Amino acid sequence: MKRGVLIAFEGIDGTGKSTQLPLLAAYLRSLGHTVVETREPTEGEYGRRIRALYTDRGQVSLEEELELFIQDRKEHIQNCIEPALQAGQIVLTDRYYFSTAAYQGAAGLDAQAIFRRHAFAPEPDRVLLLTQTPAESVQRIQGRRGEELNDFEQLDQLEKVANLFASFSQDCIVRIPAAKSIEQVQMEIREAISPLLAEHGGAC
Ligand code: ADP
Ligand code: MG
Repeated sequence: MKRGVLIAFEGIDGTGKSTQLPLLAAYLRSLGHTVVETREPTEGEYGRRIRALYTDRGQVSLEEELELFIQDRKEHIQNCIEPALQAGQIVLTDRYYFSTAAYQGAAGLDAQAIFRRHAFAPEPDRVLLLTQTPAESVQRIQGRRGEELNDFEQLDQLEKVANLFASFSQDCIVRIPAAKSIEQVQMEIREAISPLLAEHGGAC
């Protein structure tokens, strides 16, 4: 069985990851592929503990927070990502270890050290890194979701996160400007992954 394809959606909050991922999944299914849509933090035990931190980050140290993300990701890979890849499927994940490097890096940890902690994690075939300014993100989050910013979404923090995302240079990363219409962004995403599909063939 030919190994599947792993595509990660990354970028600061409000760039449209959760909007674009299901659109890409539907498109890929229309081409006959089997697609798994998943996200981090997961719904598992560690993921739930991470979500509890969204409202009050002071509960644990930065190191403990990083450990929760790593444990959650190990579980995610073991239970979901790796079995799907072995079954030849296309996995779309809403966030992956690049987010941990960017967010926990912005909070004060060493982003490159965080990447080194992820030697266990399969490298994505593509990272679709959606880019826009933090000001544009905040406008979207507050304008559309009608929510207050949570602790992970404060503007100065988002600036640091965006700068770290901008500094990452792995070959798998494709940057997609996100301050365009949903349809335009989706078209650019499809273009960015079309070489992968050509390599992968129509097998799954
Ligand atoms: P993320 O998952 O990256 O945080 P979302 O997909 O939740 O971002 O999008 C954040 C908000 O912006 C949502 O209210 C969504 O409907 C809106 N949105 C997403 N993409 C666009 C776009 N291209 N143009 C305008 N609004 C968008
Ligand atoms: Mg989202």
